[in-house]
Formats: sequence, structure tokens, C-alpha cells
Amino acid sequence: MSLLKNYGKRFPINFVSGKGATLFDDEEKDYIDFGSGIGVSSIGYGNETLTKTISDQASKLIHTSNLYHIQPQIDLAEKLSKLAGFELFSFFANSGAEANESAIKLARKYGKGERFEIITLTDSFHGRTLGSLSATGQTALQKDFLPMVEGFKYADSLSDIENLINSKTVAVMLELVKGEGGVEALSKNEVQKLAKTLKEKDILLIIDEVQTGIYRTGKFLASNIYEIQPDIITLAKGLAGGVPIGVMMTKLENGFSAGDHGSTFGGNFLSTSSAITVLEILENIDLDLKIAYFESKLMYLLQKFPNIFSEITGLGLMRGLVVKPEINVLEIVQNGNSAGILTLKSGKNTLRFLPPLIIANEEIDRGFSRLEKILCNT
Ligand SMILES: *Cc1c(COP(=O)(O)O)cnc(C)c1O
Repeated sequence: MSLLKNYGKRFPINFVSGKGATLFDDEEKDYIDFGSGIGVSSIGYGNETLTKTISDQASKLIHTSNLYHIQPQIDLAEKLSKLAGFELFSFFANSGAEANESAIKLARKYGKGERFEIITLTDSFHGRTLGSLSATGQTALQKDFLPMVEGFKYADSLSDIENLINSKTVAVMLELVKGEGGVEALSKNEVQKLAKTLKEKDILLIIDEVQTGIYRTGKFLASNIYEIQPDIITLAKGLAGGVPIGVMMTKLENGFSAGDHGSTFGGNFLSTSSAITVLEILENIDLDLKIAYFESKLMYLLQKFPNIFSEITGLGLMRGLVVKPEINVLEIVQNGNSAGILTLKSGKNTLRFLPPLIIANEEIDRGFSRLEKILCNT
């Protein structure tokens, strides 16, 4: 194969199609998807409305560049601000890492060269580009690519952040639920307290909602659940149902001046019209019932397998089951793949669940019953 080896050994499955939250391989075997292609396929597979948007838009225009007006980009920005519940101005990119790069640049601009330090959390994940990797608090991911971009500090906990603040601090960047770092949700009280402190000190609060955003945790933004209005929010994964997109939204209308930043592909006709359709679909789902149902199934597994699991973590449909240290999570994921139930690993020992938000109760039933079967043999 003429591919680089950065993804290691892939699971030996060839998917060819999907419907709802179910995927089919080249032998017509079906798989219940509790992973959404790592939080991306928020409206599942084979959605006819999105297919129509993509095909209609492709037949008109896919791309023109940001030299010209792009109507769906304007409409999407307005919709995002409205759904967030407070005024935000958007810059469109193509991925989570790029959205975070924009956030880092905006923060540096705000610091006017005098303040440039950004504090993030240990075990956070903000992306793989040099800037976003420097923000990522995981030395294991950074070690072969040193030196990192200057100006990042890592706090072990929320309460540790205040100790790291100095006259050079311009921003704090956080995931409200750590996606790659074990699906842990931060404490709402502590986050609100920190937001207040940062405001007093004129330090920007950047919330990386690349994974938590777009209804994943139950509301449009996890920030809505935490009842905070961050200065900057980044989104990507679930926003356009699999069409690549990223966005950095900020309260700072004049945060960038002309020429400060840009993207060739970012916010093109195809990705922004897809995102509008995805949001229209998700706005009309009764998520609370779905979340309660999914939660009850997790609770059942926790109670039935106290020898395997110790705790349920996360929020909404971004959940983790913490696995006891003597159990190998990856083995559960692999056995699940063979049994037709797709899950993810997060952190060292958490089994992660990111089902499509449109998953049917019947698919939830089938997924959990397959999982239960393999857990009986673990
Ligand atoms: C996935 C992820 C990213 C990186 O997104 P890419 O699209 O892979 O660049 C950044 N932050 C968080 C919280 C993520 O989950």
C-alpha cells in the first residue's frame, strides 16, 4: 500500500454503506455504530436530506474562494450565533486543528505581542498541527516533533490554572469534556468560577468544542450546559455530517483585521450548505429522551459488570465507561468490532461512546445487546 504508516494497524473492516446508525461491510454484515467516525457522523449515514443538499449544491457550485461572497457561509455564521444564544462572529476552516490554530492566532493578536501565553490542561487534545499540538497537553504526542511552538503552559487541573497565570497570560483553552483524555467532564461550578476570574483579568477563555459541540453533549454547545459565554469557541467534527469543516467563533467582532488570517477551502459552498442542513436536522431531534435511554443502558452495563467497569463519565451522547486497570479496553473495542458493535477507546482505560445523534432506540438495543454478549466473555 502506498500509504504512510501513521495510523498503525487499522481494524480489518471494509465498510461500503450505511443507513441511520448502522454500517454495512463488503460482506453485507451490519455494525451498530457507537463511534460516529469519531464524533463526525452526527446525523448517521445515508441521510436523504443531506445527500440532496450535497448533490444540489455540487451541481451548482462547490467552491469559489473567499475572494467573493458565499451566501451559505453568511447564513451558517448567523445560524451558529443564533443557536449559541449570544453574538459570535465566525471564521471558517476545514478541520478542528485549523479552527484551533485560528483561535490561537486570534488570542495572540489580542495580546498585542505583550501577552502571548496560553494555558491548557494536561491530557487535553487540541489537534495535530504544530500550533494545536503545542496546545495539546500530552508529551507523548509531542516528543518526536520538538521544539513545540512557544508560549503554552499545561495545568494539571482547573484549580492549578490560576497558579500559572502571569503578566504574559492571554488565554486559557479548555475542553469541557475531554474527548481523547478519558471523557471526563469538568465541574460546572469550577468552570464558572474560572470564567469569572479570567474576565476580571482580561484573559480570553477559549473553549474547544470540536468534539463536544453540535448537540453532542445534549445542548447545541457544552458551553450552553455550563452556562458560560466563552470569548472563543471552536467547532468541527459533527458540524457538517462528514463533509470537512471547522469554525472558530468569537465575541470579538474586530479580533482579526483584513489580511490577518485566511483559508482557501474554508467555508466553501459545499461544506457550509451541508452544515446548515445538518443543523436543521439536529435542531428538530428530541435529544433528552434519547440521552436518557442511552444512559439507562450504560447504567445497566455498569451494574451487570462491576468486575469490568468502575464508572460512567461524560455528558449527553459523549460518554465513557471507565474500565478497571486489569482489563484491556482495546480488546473490548476489537471484540465489539467483530461482533458488529463499534466503540472507541479514550485515554488509558475508558471505553468511549459517541453514537450518531439520530440513533434509533432499536439500534441502541441491538448495540448494547451485542456489547453485553462480548462482555460476558471478557
Ligand atoms: C478531534 C479534535 C481536534 C482535532 O480535530 P481535527 O479535525 O482532527 O483536526 C481538536 N480538538 C478536539 C477536542 C478534538 O476532539
